[in-house]
Amino acid sequence: MSLKIAILPGDGIGPEIVAEAEKVLAELRAGCGFDAEFEHARVGGTAYEAEGHPLPDATLALARAADAILLGSVGGPQWDGLERALRPEQALLALRAELGLFANLRPAILYPQLAGASTLKAEIVSGLDLMIVRELTGGIYFGQPRGIRRRDDGQREGFNTLLYSEHEIERIGRSAFAIAQKRAGRLCSVDKANVLECSELWREVMNRLAGDYPDVELSHMYVDNAAMQLVRAPKQFDVMVTSNMFGDILSDAAAMLTGSIGMLPSASLDASGKGMYEPIHGSAPDIAGQGVANPLATILSVAMLLRYSLDEAALASRVETAVGDVLDRGLRTADIAAAGEQAVSTSAMGDAVVAALRAAQ
Ligand code: NAD
Repeated sequence: MSLKIAILPGDGIGPEIVAEAEKVLAELRAGCGFDAEFEHARVGGTAYEAEGHPLPDATLALARAADAILLGSVGGPQWDGLERALRPEQALLALRAELGLFANLRPAILYPQLAGASTLKAEIVSGLDLMIVRELTGGIYFGQPRGIRRRDDGQREGFNTLLYSEHEIERIGRSAFAIAQKRAGRLCSVDKANVLECSELWREVMNRLAGDYPDVELSHMYVDNAAMQLVRAPKQFDVMVTSNMFGDILSDAAAMLTGSIGMLPSASLDASGKGMYEPIHGSAPDIAGQGVANPLATILSVAMLLRYSLDEAALASRVETAVGDVLDRGLRTADIAAAGEQAVSTSAMGDAVVAALRAAQ
């Protein structure tokens, strides 16, 4: 039976960049023996306009049935005034919750050709290739009780609960160890075990799991030091695993190390490796419809989809190599072009990646 990939282009630049990623998938199918079916559905504001809900039942059903999901982006100012439950971004939260996508993978890769785009010195970041694995469905963003209440003395106080069960720590830990096995074999667990009991348990579970992964070297780092090390010497890291809130902050800092939001893919996985893949950027309404968006983050999301959900590491590497070839040839969309450099369109960039794939066969 062939694999099924659900394709959800979404809003803004979503359809433009997903179209280029589909060209890459079609080329893999035509020329590289990759066997998969693609099925499309609406999500986000586009789905709300057509079907009255940002995540129609048919879209959720398709996402459930698929082996992997490729998503463009959702959102736009025209939907910001809708009640919360109908806003495009709710579709993403619902997909993550419904599909149990608890492991968020955020790579920060800086192609040496683009080292000048970072705000850090080129020698600090050139060739950076780090993966942050963030727990996505637990921790302080979800813990109960939470709220704002009035105390007996009349003062109001806000409170949230940081809570992780051993099971939740173990499953994100196992995902991270397995990812480290597919990379350089080094895993840094980031916590605040000197202050938080929850982190104490986190560290204890990570240490226990390490016994099952003798080929992975586990280390621990406090989150404040990790933030410092990310901007001091980011290339020391291979894979970092951390809780929801720490990961939220560290992964954005790591993304900015690369200086190019249009280049970064991401994945959200369940326990079996099924996942949803999307660029980290949003729907970029300011440039939607102009044919100038960078499709490489979405094309690199396809590479992640191949590696992490379909176990097609060789095909994933071919896509990544093709992206590198295109950058080597000097092709740049406007967001990654240096001053004075000629920029190519979204579709020209997609076509160039396809041509590079074909040339490498
Ligand atoms: P954004 O990421 O859409 O855009 C930020 C800036 O980066 C803009 O100037 C944009 O033009 C540029 N940019 C983004 N992607 C680019 C690409 N591929 N090529 C070239 N330039 C690119 O963030 P925003 O403006 O804060 O949000 C816009 C909308 O996207 C909002 O409705 C927001 O809620 C939504 N959003 C969606 C997601 C998602 O779908 N996962 C993520 C973030 C934001």
